[in-house]
Amino acid sequence: MHPTAAGPILTVRGLEKSYNKLRVIKGVDLDLHRGEVLAIIGPSGSGKSTLIRCLNLLEIPTAGEIAYEGRRVENRFKSRGGNIGCGELRRHVGMVFQHFNLFPHKTVLQNICEGPVAVLKEPREAVEERAMELLGKVGLLDKRDAYPNHLSGGQKQRVAIARALAMRPDVLLLDEVTSALDPELVGEVLQVIRLLANDGMTMAIVTHEMSFAADVADRVAFIDGGQIAELGTADSVIRNPASERLKSFLSRFN
Ligand code: ADP
Ligand code: MG
Repeated sequence: MHPTAAGPILTVRGLEKSYNKLRVIKGVDLDLHRGEVLAIIGPSGSGKSTLIRCLNLLEIPTAGEIAYEGRRVENRFKSRGGNIGCGELRRHVGMVFQHFNLFPHKTVLQNICEGPVAVLKEPREAVEERAMELLGKVGLLDKRDAYPNHLSGGQKQRVAIARALAMRPDVLLLDEVTSALDPELVGEVLQVIRLLANDGMTMAIVTHEMSFAADVADRVAFIDGGQIAELGTADSVIRNPASERLKSFLSRFN
């Protein structure tokens, strides 16, 4: 398989993941295209987090293949031959978590600059300049010297998004990034994600925000019992669900 600009940026084939005897991901095939926003929806425990964590090797698949720009993802740190290891993969594929995972003893600016300076070895001055641009983008310029515990949940999550973007990823994975927030803080985080989508950022977004998914996602995957039960445009999956399972799942959000 040769990487081409037109081909999918990530491909997943026959993906399986078990924890001991518990089979959690049961044969998932999926493509993520450059510039695409894919929403992943489904019941709690259906394997959504496990699936997207496999995409940057935070979980090691039990079977199947993942490829990044046509290069096979290997369970090792260094890339070799035509294959890609997790060190390089994670620079291309960033992740934002439900619980922010900010460094509590670092300021907002230090949180954002840490990765590019320590991991990418970029000069601090250039990184800080980019960090300030990103803080502007997420609406937190005035918080650059604040510590995480002085921020609201919505502000923390916007910092976490800026921190992921500071690594200049080609793909961003977001796992229920608004689920830990008070309801009045959800909108400000969704608004940032919407901006990224408009900028053409490639994203896979696990979310329970159905109207947001319907609005922003190019495609929606419904995961049920570790398999993709429905996959299609937001219109077909969220507005015209085919199966009773999906209808009943969606009815909980009305
Ligand atoms: P979702 O994100 O859709 O709620 P998860 O991917 O977190 O689902 O979990 C899917 C299943 O895998 C659940 O039954 C969960 O208990 C199990 N699971 C997830 N992570 C682990 C783990 N590290 N060890 C054992 N079981 C796990
Ligand atoms: Mg989850």
